[in-house]
Amino acid sequence: MLDAEHQQQVQRTFTKALEKDHAHTTITGISQLGLIEMTRKRTRESLGQILNSHCPVCEGRGTLKSAETVCYEIFREILRIVRAYENDIFLVTASQLVVDRLLDEESDTLAELEELVGKTVKFEVEPMYTQEQFDVVLY
Ligand SMILES: [Zn+2]
Repeated sequence: MLDAEHQQQVQRTFTKALEKDHAHTTITGISQLGLIEMTRKRTRESLGQILNSHCPVCEGRGTLKSAETVCYEIFREILRIVRAYENDIFLVTASQLVVDRLLDEESDTLAELEELVGKTVKFEVEPMYTQEQFDVVLY
């Protein structure tokens, strides 16, 4: 196994044999100890996958958009929607966390936005919404 040519021959034979394997297998080389190194895709679901289901709030990502990010998404949505309608008042429905932020930390930005578009924005808390969910509708 120390001979490079011999090693390649072994690897080729191995690769050919593994072509029959349904799981995706990749040979990564031969180690210093002369062991064939390979990775093999798991064909059965892990215990974690069997016992758990995706979290419906983050949809399995494990993280949520921050309230700040959602506030800016709402501002962008308002800017997008106001051009299409002549209504003077728009209603934003969002989670408590996001509405609180809009009325506190983002209140200056909100005031500027209202002035810019010449419309009034009202808010309503929807307790069922996750912090990522919101609607902007005509009032
Ligand atoms: Zn989650």
